[in-house]
Amino acid sequence: MSANGKTQTANAAIQTENLTRVYHLEGEDIRALSGVSLAIYPCQLTAIVGRSGSGKTTLLNLIAGLDDPSEGEVWVMGQSLQKMDEAARLALRREKLGFIFQSFGLLPLLTAAENVGVPLRMRNVPAAEREARVREALEWVGLGRRARHRPYELSGGEQQRVAIARALAAQPQIVLADEPTGQLDSQTGRRILDLLRRLVIERGITVVIVSHDPMVMAEADVVHELRDGKLIETRYKSA
Ligand code: ADP
Ligand code: MG
Repeated sequence: MSANGKTQTANAAIQTENLTRVYHLEGEDIRALSGVSLAIYPCQLTAIVGRSGSGKTTLLNLIAGLDDPSEGEVWVMGQSLQKMDEAARLALRREKLGFIFQSFGLLPLLTAAENVGVPLRMRNVPAAEREARVREALEWVGLGRRARHRPYELSGGEQQRVAIARALAAQPQIVLADEPTGQLDSQTGRRILDLLRRLVIERGITVVIVSHDPMVMAEADVVHELRDGKLIETRYKSA
């Protein structure tokens, strides 16, 4: 780990230094995250684990630049989020990051293909290229034949695969997933985890999964464990 607030660890996809987030709620201070310093390396599957309320989502939001720390700093691909304005952060999120949520986050009135195309529309990708990338992403997650289905016509596991395809279509370097298996039975969760592993192996994407699912911990190359907002342990998968 780096020795002071200015040091960056070489080659880290994401680095945090003394990351702290205090929420002020009705005169009370809640230390959701407390002095977390960690590095996440490219082309690995990293898990951030801990019980409910341990600060996982808070950490993920700070890494994504969706929230500001009370103290500390986050670097994504070597760039400090704290030194960027909101426009630069938005650009970084669009161009480098993909998101997958526990609740899938699909728009209910859009088909699977339209949902996958949303981030590409936001980036003004021309229609022909958009269609090709949507098709490729849906095929990659095994849903090429479900393109015209709407979320309510798909199972939970299929909806999560659409969400993975949506992240993939934007060609991110880093995928951030918040409890992606949380609403799935264990067999379906296993399949989602296998797909996230394939993102790492076949696409060279850095995958960060926030979860309290033991299956995620077993699959990850590196596990950072949070308790009460503090990083208490980092474990590496034995070869
Ligand atoms: P996890 O994702 O591990 O379940 P969170 O990061 O969501 O944990 O929350 C960590 C702590 O911060 C919890 O005690 C939670 O109640 C609190 N917290 C989270 N978001 C807010 C908020 N917007 N305002 C006040 N407290 C919050
Ligand atoms: Mg959470």
